[in-house]
Amino acid sequence: MNVTVFGTGYVGLVQGAVLAEVGHQVVCVDVDELKVKQLEQGIIPIYEPGLTSMVKENHAAGRLEFTTDAARGVKHGQVQFIAVGTPPDEDGSADLKYVLAVAATIAEHMDREQIIINKSTVPVGSADKVRAEVKKVLKERGRHEIGFDVVSNPEFLKEGSAVADCQRPDRIIIGTECDDTIEVMRELYAPFNRNRDKIIVMDVRSAELTKYAANCMLATKISFMNEMANLAERLGADIEAVRLGIGADPRIGYHFIYPGVGYGGSCFPKDLQALIHASDNIDFDAKLLKAVESRNKEQKTTLFQKISQHFNGQLEGKNFAIWGLSFKPNTDDMRDAPSRVLMEALWTAGAKVQAYDPEAMEEAQRLYGSHEHLSLCGTKEAALKNTNALIIVTEWQNFRAPDFEFIKTQLSEPTIFDGRNLYEPRRMVAKGFTYYSVGRANPV
Ligand code: NAD
Repeated sequence: MNVTVFGTGYVGLVQGAVLAEVGHQVVCVDVDELKVKQLEQGIIPIYEPGLTSMVKENHAAGRLEFTTDAARGVKHGQVQFIAVGTPPDEDGSADLKYVLAVAATIAEHMDREQIIINKSTVPVGSADKVRAEVKKVLKERGRHEIGFDVVSNPEFLKEGSAVADCQRPDRIIIGTECDDTIEVMRELYAPFNRNRDKIIVMDVRSAELTKYAANCMLATKISFMNEMANLAERLGADIEAVRLGIGADPRIGYHFIYPGVGYGGSCFPKDLQALIHASDNIDFDAKLLKAVESRNKEQKTTLFQKISQHFNGQLEGKNFAIWGLSFKPNTDDMRDAPSRVLMEALWTAGAKVQAYDPEAMEEAQRLYGSHEHLSLCGTKEAALKNTNALIIVTEWQNFRAPDFEFIKTQLSEPTIFDGRNLYEPRRMVAKGFTYYSVGRANPV
């Protein structure tokens, strides 16, 4: 099938590559000229396992093209994906300007029936807005006779395993009431729908809400566990034991119940905010969602509080090693990352930071490169040199079994603040460390 994808970010690029990989003929359109140029040269602007080779191979095979030429893109596709950003507006609502701009662009160039597939995460009612925008432009062009459908097809990929998630989706949500559209969508996704029927068809509004409900549920699990961790710390319990104890109940399960330093990334914070805002707009007080968000904001400050308490509030001139800057492992994404809240608090308190992340160094350089109190280090070992303590913010695999003796030689006092519970407290004490973690009694 000929497919056009607008937007080559995490969602659009991965979706385009995965569709090309199964044999569809894909044209990706982006307004960012540099990005398009780089993609054509095989330079992939994001880190996502398996993506680079897939993009290069399919580009070389002529199944995946990149362009800034929207007219060419619209002409090519039998279906047109919208996969552009929906960042929070100043008031927290989802900003639809990029989505509507693409809708207008498609309408400007379409000269036959089209299916417009919205993959961006958008508030309930957005498909109606896209439809209205397309109609308006078609009317201005005097082409109101051209038929089209707007489908909601939210994306559930996880950064860090985006390619695998797109190749083997848990479910494919299709929000439309048009039978012809459902048939085309079934054909498009048939290669990903082989071992069981993963396609769930519903009305557009329900599809739009499903995406928010999924992210809000996941954020709720995290904030719930963080709340339990805070309680465990104060009550002398061990949240890791509690986690195992509750996860054994299949109604709860072990997935996504790790305590930590709060969720970040481009989706949970913004989607929660957007749904809260949408609720406020219809005079519905989303009490639970507001509590989830507020717990998360506070959780992002807990590591700093422990550090400050340990040093009796005397952080001026102290030097800290930070391992992990991305908001979670296997990505270079630092949007809303807990590491940023922590570093900014440390800097405000007069401390310095030596940081290492396996993938997010370029992003950290872009965001904070000029900060006089940040040194970005080439290895996790280099980040330790002449520091007062080690702080672990992201649970990358290669932080799990470090050379503790070496760490001790580098820190002025052997202290670790672990925001991800990577180590066993008793072992750390036996090794001579003062070890702080999450939801487990602080060292005495
Ligand atoms: P992104 O910011 O990484 O990428 C968006 C891309 O769209 C950019 O390359 C930008 O240049 C391009 N763009 C903007 N306006 C354009 C236009 N008029 N025409 C063509 N291209 C244009 O965004 P993302 O992370 O891929 O997210 C896209 C959407 O998918 C958002 O709504 C997001 O909430 C949702 N989503 C994201 C994830 C995720 O993990 N990142 C997962 C599921 C859903």
